Amino acid sequence: MTERTGSSGLAYLDYNATAPMRPQAREVTLAAMQTVGNASSTHRSGRDAAQRVDEARRQVADLLNCSPGEIVFTSGATEANNLALRAAHSAGGTVITSMVEHPAVLETAKNLTVNAPNALRMLSVDADGLVDLEGLHAALSAGDVAIVSLMAANNETGVLTDLAPLTEAAHRAGALFHTDATQLVGRLPIDLAELDVDLLSLSAHKFGGPQGVGSLFARRGISLPYHPLIFGGGQERGWRAGTLNVAGIAGAGAAAAAAHRGMAEESLRVTRLRDLLESALVEELGDCRINGALDYRLPGVTSITFHGVPADAVLAAMPDVAASEGSACSSGAPSPSHVLLAMGRSREEADSTVRFSLGYASTRGDVDQAIASTIRAVRQVRTTLAIPI
Ligand code: PMP
Repeated sequence: MTERTGSSGLAYLDYNATAPMRPQAREVTLAAMQTVGNASSTHRSGRDAAQRVDEARRQVADLLNCSPGEIVFTSGATEANNLALRAAHSAGGTVITSMVEHPAVLETAKNLTVNAPNALRMLSVDADGLVDLEGLHAALSAGDVAIVSLMAANNETGVLTDLAPLTEAAHRAGALFHTDATQLVGRLPIDLAELDVDLLSLSAHKFGGPQGVGSLFARRGISLPYHPLIFGGGQERGWRAGTLNVAGIAGAGAAAAAAHRGMAEESLRVTRLRDLLESALVEELGDCRINGALDYRLPGVTSITFHGVPADAVLAAMPDVAASEGSACSSGAPSPSHVLLAMGRSREEADSTVRFSLGYASTRGDVDQAIASTIRAVRQVRTTLAIPI
């Protein structure tokens, strides 16, 4: 395939920021928008809307292998992370998380412990971005831990977390375990009948659903005095008040079903494309480094440091490629990537790092274009800055 997935000849390689909507999700969302009905109403229109939501809840639950009753629909993973941490911390106690989490976890954890800074313990990562089980044991040993929150896959590097032993350690210490699985869900399999996490956050727009829809998985039977962020009519079993976003939720369900069906084939294909991109850039450009555990990453992500070459200049020199410097959530902010700094990279290295993230609709054409444009852009910046290669 040689066509580009983005509009106007743009090679869109920024799936970790947001993925294009899957055709199945678009179709279901639009169909739901053309009907009327509040999922809480008891007449036929309301029941039809409720049915769309029920179907989506089942589709999201199938993707995770959990029960539909364990899914709370939210406005996204940011809200799901806030809900999870607030609920688990409602009786106080310590929060353990890691230095490479998304701000939706980091800022919530800081806010919850603002009056007791010692009640926040931050785990470090190694040079590959991996959290250390021994570090968790040490943090747990001080006792009174309410929750451990560790991400399933990092948004900047794609590095995965081996959640099972970490979950087990948290449970042995009497703590709840939450994972921000926003970048993993829909891309690699996850089985919540096997993996014993108590709480999990996901976001539909990362796997081809609409933006502004996500879910919190809250395992049935955990004792959790939930704390809604939004009070009102008691929707979503009291977790989140407000009229349900039926069209968005229906689209999220359709995206979950499509991602589930295509996952084995998609993850292999996307890994091959990512590897092609990575090896071509390393070979042609030299003096660069791939960040993160090479054999333990999401299929479509590569974080590449082009030594001495500012990432903003590279991206500006290749307007036909959509990629990002560090994480899109913090773009515009002058501070360097906290993830790369936590992995021991210098500020200069962090500022010279580009993240490409591919996904289900990425094509060979996108990758070929990204290779050609990146090579041209990096060489151009090196020439301008008189950097010897
Ligand atoms: N967690 C991670 C790891 C993410 O990558 C993102 C999105 N950048 C979020 C949380 C926030 O998700 P949402 O956009 O649904 O609020």
